[in-house]
Amino acid sequence: MKLQDKIAIVTGSASGIGKEIATTYAREGAKVVIADLMQPAAEATAAGLRASGAQAMAVAMDVTNEDQVNAGVAEVVKAWGGVDVLVSNAGVQIVHPLEEFTLAEWKKMLAIHLDGAFLTTRACLPHMYKSGRGGSIIFMGSVHSHEASVLKAPYVTAKHGLLGLAKTIAKEGAKHNVRANVICPGFVRTPLVEKQIPEQAKELGISEDDVVKKVMLKDTVDGEFTTVQDVAEVALLFASFPSNALTGQSLVVSHGWFMQ
Ligand code: NAD
Repeated sequence: MKLQDKIAIVTGSASGIGKEIATTYAREGAKVVIADLMQPAAEATAAGLRASGAQAMAVAMDVTNEDQVNAGVAEVVKAWGGVDVLVSNAGVQIVHPLEEFTLAEWKKMLAIHLDGAFLTTRACLPHMYKSGRGGSIIFMGSVHSHEASVLKAPYVTAKHGLLGLAKTIAKEGAKHNVRANVICPGFVRTPLVEKQIPEQAKELGISEDDVVKKVMLKDTVDGEFTTVQDVAEVALLFASFPSNALTGQSLVVSHGWFMQ
């Protein structure tokens, strides 16, 4: 049990990567918070974890909404007394050539990925500092934190931005033993990616099969998708690492698509 009794908030954990991270943390003894926009799905995920013997609660939270984020974290602290791990994972994708993005779409992308990371971190940090136990802040970056792809200007911009935020938190949090790191997955077949396959096929004028083989997996070493379990293992490493030796880093889990 690598996370026995640790209190972990995972945003965007009613689906995909976040759901698997919450499940992995629960298996390792953590008390997990399913914080998501999709309230019924968050409740169902938390109920499923409780049914398997874990401690889990759902919190309704739009990560771009300051009041909801503050209220959600306060609810967790009231129920369980603190926060040890934050995984800022909630995210969406919108694909267009840059000149076709509306300002509203651009702002939405930056709000979810960057405002969400800032607001959730700001709400959790004081509790990590106060507890004396330290803590772990984990941002869900992407290969797109290091690499660009066509059609993804705001996503690439936001995911690069998370690296700077994590490095700053690593420096500010060190004296309180709060670490900050970024996970950078390659393509994982979640609803976020399933939606993108037909959209990219249309934008690029190629078949869906070619989007998978010639766009998404083209530069991997073996033509394989990364899995939610692969990403959850890295999230477990960052959450359970015992010292400040591992902070301010990004770890790319992408079948070699991007090599640092
Ligand atoms: P997903 O669509 O399966 O899950 C995303 C979750 O985030 C959903 O439950 C959704 O309700 C929630 N969400 C969206 N907006 C929110 C908001 N404003 N507030 C709270 N919750 C919100 O997607 P996923 O693939 O699991 O993506 C999770 C994270 O992983 C994202 O940050 C994404 O950018 C990142 N990522 C995904 C891939 C991939 O290939 N799937 C690769 C690299 C990085």
